Formats: sequence, C-alpha cells, structure tokens
Amino acid sequence: KRKREVENIDALSQRVADLEVKLSTPPQDFSDLPLSQPTQAGLEASHFKKLTTIQSSAIPAALKGRDILGAAKTGSGKTLAFLVPVLENLYRKRWTEYDGLGALILSPTRELAVQIFEVLRKVGRNHAFSAGLVIGGKSLQEERERLGRMNILVATPGRMLQHMDQTADFGIENLQMLILDEADRIMDMGFQTAIDAIVDHLPKDRQTLLFSATQTKKINDLVRLSLTEPEFVSVHETA
Ligand code: ADP
Ligand code: MG
Repeated sequence: KRKREVENIDALSQRVADLEVKLSTPPQDFSDLPLSQPTQAGLEASHFKKLTTIQSSAIPAALKGRDILGAAKTGSGKTLAFLVPVLENLYRKRWTEYDGLGALILSPTRELAVQIFEVLRKVGRNHAFSAGLVIGGKSLQEERERLGRMNILVATPGRMLQHMDQTADFGIENLQMLILDEADRIMDMGFQTAIDAIVDHLPKDRQTLLFSATQTKKINDLVRLSLTEPEFVSVHETA
C-alpha cells in the first residue's frame, strides 16, 4: 500500500506541475482538478461537486504554490478556496505528524474560526493531518500542549500572538502556508500590529493566501508586507 501511495503522490505532483495557473477553460467541477483521493472523497461526502467562481480561479494557482490575493463577497465560497489547497499542498509534501505546523489559518473572530474548523474537519476527514483551534476559552497551558502536535491551526490573531510570545519552543519553523481570511475585517478590528508580529515569527519562504470580501486600501499594507508577487483573483458581481 505504501508504495502505491508514493507513486500516486508523484503522479499527482506531475499533474499539478502540468496545470496552468490561469486555465483557458476554467475548471467546472472539483473532479476536473488534480486533487488527492482523500480530498476528492471528503468533498464528495460533503456534497461539493461544482466549483464556485472564486474557487475555480484561486485553487489552480494556489495548488501551484502561488501567493493569492482573493476578493469575493460573503457567501461566494472562499473557505474551500483556501482549505482545498492547504490539504493538497501539505499532502503532496508528504506532511506528517513529525513535521509540525504546516499551515496557519487566521480568522478575525472566534465564530468564524470555528466555522472554518468545521469545514476543515468535514472535507479533510480522510486525511491523516492533525488540526486544532486556537481561539482562547481554554487556559494557555492547555492550548499550548496541543499546539505542538498540530499540522493545521485555525486561530484568531490575538490568541495566536499570545502563544508565540509566551511559548518558547513553538515549532513553526517549517510552516508552509499562511492564510489570512476576512483580511478586511482583520484590519477593521485593529489586528494590524498582531498580524505584523505574527508574520515576523514565520519563515519567509512560505505561501500566503489572503482573502477578503472587499478590496480596501487598508488591505494594501497587509499585501505589501505578507505576499510575494500574488496572483490577483477577484469576483465581481454581474448585474
Ligand atoms: P465565504 O467565505 O466566501 O463567505 P463560504 O466559504 O462560507 O463563503 O461558503 C458559503 C456557502 O456556500 C457555505 O454554505 C458553503 O457550504 C457553500 N459552498 C461553498 N463552496 C461550495 C461549492 N463548491 N458547492 C456548493 N456549495 C458551496
Ligand atoms: Mg468566509
């Protein structure tokens, strides 16, 4: 079984390498994309078949490791636009429990973080990754003990920074992906300094996906500091 899995990942990586960042015919269904078997099965079990517009434009580029600046209104499906690449990119890197934190997803509020975590648990259920929520509500000590064992974290900026400042050996030196969800709200809620400090702790050589409902001037600062030659993906409403 092990050998077959390795061959499958190699074949999948080749398909991703062959994928164009901007496809001439946008993919319609998740099954049109080079996704792993565990992700395809998780999407099917959750009854996700067709891609939304933002997913169709963001996922191919994100699979290829590009930084993304994505803007699309609330309800357009931004969660899967970043969760699918998170699962896939770690999977193709053969990420395991021993590799530490691979992806950090920052969300402005606890409620939104919980929602993201629930989608991650559903769609990612066939993967072996460990995932955790860091939103406070438990003691720092309790959260910290679980933190070191997580591959994917969904966190609020304030709480995440608290851990980074107080936990000496944190294990984020391998981090591959940073996701900023609802970046406009993150800025509106005054988390700019927290985000700057968090980004300071992270390895420079990582992929960053930034999503927001609006494109505001405030986001530009965030983009400048955290993204590298991003692929711009925005979905405009058609009248
Ligand atoms: P946003 O973050 O842009 O506000 P969400 O990711 O929360 O949007 O998705 C909004 C709703 O659309 C959710 O109920 C979600 O389950 C649903 N949804 C997302 N992607 C798809 C899809 N590809 N097919 C069907 N429903 C989807
Ligand atoms: Mg959202």
